[in-house]
Amino acid sequence: MDLSLSPSEAALQAKARRFFDEVLQPLELVVTEAGHLPDDRRAPLRKAVIDWGYTGINHARDDGGCGYTMLEQMLINEQLGRASCGLWAGVWQPPIALRFGTPKQKELYLGPSCRGERRGCFAITEPGAGSDPRLVQTSAVLRDGQWRLSGEKWFVTSYDACDYIIVHAHVDGDPDKPTLFLVDHATPGIRHVRSPHFMHDYIFDHAELVFEDVPVPSDRMLGDIGQGFELTKDWFVEARLQIAAHCIGAATRAAEIADAYAKEREQFGRPIRGFQSIEFMIADMAVDIMAAKSTLYRVAWEIDAGIDRTSVHARASAVKLMSSEMAGRTLDKALQILGGRGYMRENPVERLYRDVRVDRIWEGTSEIQRAIIGGQIAKRGIGVYSGWPGETL
Ligand SMILES: Cc1cc2nc3c(=O)[nH]c(=O)nc-3n(C[C@H](O)[C@H](O)[C@H](O)COP(=O)(O)OP(=O)(O)OC[C@H]3O[C@@H](n4cnc5c(N)ncnc54)[C@H](O)[C@@H]3O)c2cc1C
Repeated sequence: MDLSLSPSEAALQAKARRFFDEVLQPLELVVTEAGHLPDDRRAPLRKAVIDWGYTGINHARDDGGCGYTMLEQMLINEQLGRASCGLWAGVWQPPIALRFGTPKQKELYLGPSCRGERRGCFAITEPGAGSDPRLVQTSAVLRDGQWRLSGEKWFVTSYDACDYIIVHAHVDGDPDKPTLFLVDHATPGIRHVRSPHFMHDYIFDHAELVFEDVPVPSDRMLGDIGQGFELTKDWFVEARLQIAAHCIGAATRAAEIADAYAKEREQFGRPIRGFQSIEFMIADMAVDIMAAKSTLYRVAWEIDAGIDRTSVHARASAVKLMSSEMAGRTLDKALQILGGRGYMRENPVERLYRDVRVDRIWEGTSEIQRAIIGGQIAKRGIGVYSGWPGETL
């Protein structure tokens, strides 16, 4: 079993680290100061993403993407995850559901998104519908040859940076007909209510929107009527793995900072690293990162090897749960080792500490991941998680 990265994979990883060092890291304090990425920084960041070849890293070459394997995508995402303030979102990864679009939809949305000309966001959550999307109230009704969307969406991430929204609505208000629609940002009837502040500093916003009888051409339905959950499921898999990679990148950076500081910082006549309580925290951080990273790479490798969709979905939940909870533990320890300096906003550990909290909430809370994992074990046995590829026991 050879688990080492190939030279081309290692090169992709090294390039992504350079992108973090040269492009993302210099923007961290800018975002923290402003609470978002200021307007005059948006076009240069977009240009940098295009120049570095980071548009469409999650799509196939045939669709205009980079054609990277899942492992390659994770190697890149892990390095992007070192950046605080959600700067990794500057590298937009066109919604995976677009892969299932018609040729015309791909021409209008996916192709331009992979070229860096367009950007989408995703609107599922509503005031009354979070973990349980069957409670979605946004309805889509076909009238005079076009869809009409009405409802309210919350937490729409990157709305201020997008020019189209993938909206999850129930056709005729029927929860058995969850369906996705491609809605252009400028469509009349979309009302931006507000973009509240959140715990993290994030480069873009998380908007609350109201859809008031919004007209959507009949050819902008993505997939079929009732296919909304199926398409979203694939998107959740990818998003959960991306979150895991970001968490591992953030935790690794924090652990490196804490370890270096503990070597230099002297109290009571010696470096604080010499205190076993500090050393044990560093050991726990390292072991936690090793476990999460090994699991992420293994699952990415399995996806590239073609494991079945059910197993992919099952394992993505485990990777997301493990990595996001690991990041919470690791950032907390790193901040503790830094003492008062770790509590300063100018310190990356303080920002990453706030950043990773949401990773236990979005794209399915930790409780929902546990419910998925428990359900998979009930159906298919504990081996879904404890087994190993090729094992015959
Ligand atoms: C910063 C941010 C950005 C976001 N971006 C987007 C976006 O771009 N698009 C989008 O559509 N949504 C987005 N979301 C919404 C996010 O996906 C939801 O917040 C998440 O799914 C949880 O829903 P909720 O907040 O309504 O919590 P609820 O579902 O109300 O859950 C509240 C609590 O109850 C627990 N709970 C719920 N059901 C169960 C159960 N069956 N078993 C055990 N515990 C349960 C949850 O785990 C949680 O602890 C974003 C959220 C945040 C905070």
